[in-house]
Amino acid sequence: MSTIFSKIIEGTLPAHKVAEDENYLAFLDINPLAKGHTLVIPKKETDYIFDVEDQEYIGLWKFAKMVAKKIEAQIPCERIGVAVVGLEVAHAHIHLIPINEVEDINFARPKLNLTQDELALIAKKISD
Ligand code: 5GP
Repeated sequence: MSTIFSKIIEGTLPAHKVAEDENYLAFLDINPLAKGHTLVIPKKETDYIFDVEDQEYIGLWKFAKMVAKKIEAQIPCERIGVAVVGLEVAHAHIHLIPINEVEDINFARPKLNLTQDELALIAKKISD
């Protein structure tokens, strides 16, 4: 069965995309910890990030680096925090989160409640 993220890749589920190439996709997290919280995924579906084949794994982190630069150029923050959790969606993904202090990347914190319009605006800023 394909994951929620594969449905986003296929276009059968909507997402606020910020960057895409042949092998990777970056889109805003639907329940962000911070404005600009982005998920970076390989298009090939693999559950556990450390099962991703070496070349694809390296490409995923290179793509994430490019996306992080785009986020930090648009979202005021100290830096982009990085996390890999993967307990909710069984499709390897990297969280990129604009942070100012360590608490900003605490996944136990309440998530932001952003409207679709706000998410669309953030995605446009990052992707432009
Ligand atoms: P994890 O698997 O790393 O524990 O968490 C999965 C992340 O994916 C969560 O931060 C959650 O908000 C996000 N997420 C879950 N479903 C969707 C979805 O349908 N669209 C988007 N954009 N993000 C999602």
